[in-house]
Amino acid sequence: MRVREIEAKTILSSAKHPDPWFGVKYTMNLYRGCQHHCIYCDSRSECYQIADFDGEILVKTNALERLRDELARKRTKGYVSTGSMNDPYMPVERVRLLARGALEIVAALRFPVHIITKSDLVTRDADLLRAIRDATGEKGAVVSFTITTPDDDLARQIEPGAPPSSARLAAMQTLAARGLWVGVTLMPVLPAITDDEASIRRLIEAAADYGAKYVIPAWGMTLRDRQRSHYYAQLDRLFPGLREKYERAYGDRYSAGAPNAVRLEAAFAELAQRRRLERAVAPWSTGEAKQLALF
Ligand code: SF4
Repeated sequence: MRVREIEAKTILSSAKHPDPWFGVKYTMNLYRGCQHHCIYCDSRSECYQIADFDGEILVKTNALERLRDELARKRTKGYVSTGSMNDPYMPVERVRLLARGALEIVAALRFPVHIITKSDLVTRDADLLRAIRDATGEKGAVVSFTITTPDDDLARQIEPGAPPSSARLAAMQTLAARGLWVGVTLMPVLPAITDDEASIRRLIEAAADYGAKYVIPAWGMTLRDRQRSHYYAQLDRLFPGLREKYERAYGDRYSAGAPNAVRLEAAFAELAQRRRLERAVAPWSTGEAKQLALF
């Protein structure tokens, strides 16, 4: 995969209201493109204007300068997040160290952070995440591991560039042992591929066993222009005959819900209650930091 350097005009985007699933206030993308090549990835959609999503990684060479400058001017504290448009811990991060550099800045400015990743490389930065947690409170350093199946072989087919699910679970356990707030993002759920109730139950149980405080589910996937055409081409290659079933079931619809979504939600609700798992990360509250300051 080609690596090309670019300069970013800005790095942080702010949400007026933190979203209800991840509680995120500020979002940054340190790279463009992603080396994990998940067959279902929505970042291929035309609206994101990444011409060669699977062929080229763009490294934002001034990302850390921009972040230091932009974050220092923010008056409202809230989760600084990365991992929505690409994975900050994809292989290129081993040498470019933008995620690590960003964590150093976030730690110095005492902001909370929420990382979303499929990679065990995030454990490299456990020291910085722990420092952020110590400065901001129990939920000040959150790491969400996206896991769509407990089956490593299936994960290798649908997320060919990402570490196996078992490595993600082990990494989550490592960070949980460091006292970080960790959990699983169970999305997307691919109809007729990863929507098997028994394997979803197995995944939720494994998440709890490996230290998850929460599991954030979404019972379906999106299908949009270039995302859909790439996904359908991969279905033809990996699961012959399935594309035609999708076309009949979903036509041109943007949203493709799992047909057994109601049953999956019931199973999730029962398991989450039994294993004491939350289903979202609430927006970061300064109350926690104030309490910390009292001691
Ligand atoms: S890790 Fe995330 S951003 Fe990267 S290809 Fe997979 S779904 Fe897309």
